[in-house]
Amino acid sequence: MTDIVWFKRDLRVNDHEPLYWASKKNKVIPLYIVERDFWKQPDVSDRHYKFLTDSITDLNSALHDLGQKLIIRVGDAEQIFSELIEKYAVETIWSHEETWNNWTYQRDIKLRTMFDKKNVKWQEIQVNGVFRGLNDRKSWSKMFYQEVNKAPIGKPDKLNNINIKSEKLPSADDLDIKSIGCPYIQIGGEKEAHDVIDSFLTSRSYDYSKNISSPLYSHESCSRLSTHLAFGNISLKQVFHFTKCATDNFKANRENVNIINLRSINAFKSRLRWRSHFIQKLEDQPNIESQNLHEAYDSIRNDSFNEDFYQAWRDGQTGFPLIDACMRSLIKTGWINFRMRAMLVSFASNNLWLDWRKFAHHLSNIFTDYEPGIHYSQIQMQSGTTGINTIRIYNPIKQSYDQDKDGVFIKRWVKELQDCPIDYIHEPWKCETKKFRYAPRIVDEIETRKKASSQLYSIKSKIRYSETTRKILQKHVS
Ligand SMILES: Cc1cc2nc3c(=O)[nH]c(=O)nc-3n(C[C@H](O)[C@H](O)[C@H](O)COP(=O)(O)OP(=O)(O)OC[C@H]3O[C@@H](n4cnc5c(N)ncnc54)[C@H](O)[C@@H]3O)c2cc1C
Repeated sequence: MTDIVWFKRDLRVNDHEPLYWASKKNKVIPLYIVERDFWKQPDVSDRHYKFLTDSITDLNSALHDLGQKLIIRVGDAEQIFSELIEKYAVETIWSHEETWNNWTYQRDIKLRTMFDKKNVKWQEIQVNGVFRGLNDRKSWSKMFYQEVNKAPIGKPDKLNNINIKSEKLPSADDLDIKSIGCPYIQIGGEKEAHDVIDSFLTSRSYDYSKNISSPLYSHESCSRLSTHLAFGNISLKQVFHFTKCATDNFKANRENVNIINLRSINAFKSRLRWRSHFIQKLEDQPNIESQNLHEAYDSIRNDSFNEDFYQAWRDGQTGFPLIDACMRSLIKTGWINFRMRAMLVSFASNNLWLDWRKFAHHLSNIFTDYEPGIHYSQIQMQSGTTGINTIRIYNPIKQSYDQDKDGVFIKRWVKELQDCPIDYIHEPWKCETKKFRYAPRIVDEIETRKKASSQLYSIKSKIRYSETTRKILQKHVS
């Protein structure tokens, strides 16, 4: 008998339960399907495909070392599975549970029906501290810690070789993927993920808490694991495990152990928990990808989409130096820290009063670590449409003074301000002695902030004790 291990967003051989358990039972076809229709979806872009290509190359080599290379197929998952099931008398399809966008959700529903009809078992294994079929969040925290504190499992000892045709990975052009380009993109793959966590735990994490919001230093001090986690180059369990080993060694005063800053490590671990917390929201309510969590906000920002504002924001031409520097840097590197992401969204939703549904895909396209569960939950939080979170409107000028005091990050990305005296770098419009070839401010920051704040608070005060708010709290807050 033969089983298929379907690799999805879990591109690794270590701590991969489907691969491990399937290899103990039957001959295994390790399969990756490049789904043409998936790559045409508006939320993905060529930078995701680039990271995927690195990850697949690495995975193929690791599987080859185990005795069976990765089988790549290009096309429609239903047709590909149909053909493989007939030809190889497949007994079980193994995969991890996937909580991703609406397209993958609908695809999995169709596949489940097809597998049932063909009498093939689909063994989906729970992963990432996200649980299927929860009615509320009462036990979530306990379940989360139980899972992430389990020891990771190793890779299989060996895979039996099967003679089966594999296809070449198509180019991004062949797949007609939205092309943006990303000259400083992170490298993907399981090996790289292990190097990244290693360098983080041995040195980079020391100033994690101090630098977490600095656009200049966070590139180095943050873990930079988000894209590896999004593609499953490393599992959440492994990240917790390696972090625990590093802190245990440090606490035990072992020789030759790197100095660990426990405050930083605790802050890092709490963010790993947030990751699962947000993905769980999408698992429990898939429509948060396209609908306001609280319907009371459906009536705002409806007819006010200003295309010129959107384009200026999207292209880093708003006239607000930190906003433009962050957007331009993000386009070229595919990453920016949490606070800068929150500020970019807050500016678009509140100062420019744009409906988040019309700009969320621009960000998903340029975040290499795009993870729908975190992405849409965070965008809704920063846009004030959840009904349950504190309303927070970031002041981009204050953020600029606080997070890039000397304007080094701004000057790096906004070349038009290269000669701007430091006293004016955060508010170049105040400089009377010099003029710059830089975009004028597209809105009045104070006026637009006040207006947005008053509209959001007026709804929030009306719905505070409503039945809908109570239900949202029950469903999503642990
Ligand atoms: C509007 C907006 C959209 C976002 N979209 C994404 C997204 O698509 N994918 C994504 O991975 N993160 C997203 N984040 C969360 C956060 O900004 C990134 O996870 C973080 O910047 C990644 O860098 P890092 O791996 O160095 O994180 P670290 O600070 O080192 O944190 C470790 C891990 O914890 C998780 N994490 C960190 N911060 C958060 C957070 N606030 N919420 C949930 N999980 C978190 C990530 O998996 C991260 O890899 C978004 C935040 C905002 C405000």
